[in-house]
Amino acid sequence: MSAGTLRLLFSAQQIQKRIHEMGAQIDKDYPDGALHLVCILKGACFFLADLARAIERDVVIDFMGISSYGRGTTTSGAVKLTKDLDLAVENVHVLLVEDIVDTGLTLNYLMNTLQQRKPRSIRVAALLDKPERRQRPVKVSYVGFEIPDEFVVGYGLDFAERYRNLQDVCVLEGPQVA
Ligand code: 5GP
Repeated sequence: MSAGTLRLLFSAQQIQKRIHEMGAQIDKDYPDGALHLVCILKGACFFLADLARAIERDVVIDFMGISSYGRGTTTSGAVKLTKDLDLAVENVHVLLVEDIVDTGLTLNYLMNTLQQRKPRSIRVAALLDKPERRQRPVKVSYVGFEIPDEFVVGYGLDFAERYRNLQDVCVLEGPQVA
C-alpha cells in the first residue's frame, strides 16, 4: 500500500483539552448515578479511554462493532452489526461514543437498534463531526470538533487499518492505494 501525506489537524494536546471539557459537560448534564458508555469499535476506542477518565461519575463500559468503510475512503452505505453489547441497556442512561459522524448512516442504525432495548435515555458523543456530509438526521449531543469534508486518520481512525496509533488527528492527503 502506498499512502499519501499527513497534515496535522488536531494535536494530541488539543484533543485532550477538548475531551476534558466534554467530560465536565457530561458530568454536569446527567443526574446522579452510573452512565453507560457504549463504544463503537474500532475507531472510538482511544476516545472512549480518554473520555471515560474525563468523566468523574461511575461509568459502565461496553462495546459494539459495526462494519464501516472497509479498506477505502468512501462509505458503502451498508451498516452491519459485527459485535453486539455484552450488557443489557434497559432503563439506563446510554451515551454512544463514536469517533466521527459522517453521513449519519451508522448512528441512525445504532440509535434505532438501541432504542428497541428501552434505555432510559440515549445520547451521542463524537470526537469529530462532518456536518456537510450528512444523509440522515442525527442529534450529536457532545461534539469534540466539527471538521470539513476531508478524510482524517489518527487517534483511533484508520485508513485500511493503518494510522490508528497516531496521537494526533491528521488529514490524509494525496493518492492512496489500498
Ligand atoms: P457514517 O455512517 O456517519 O457515514 O460513518 C461513520 C463511520 O465512518 C465512522 O465511525 C468511521 O469509522 C468512518 N469514517 C467516516 N469519516 C471518516 C474519516 O474521515 N476518516 C476515517 N478514518 N473514517 C471515517
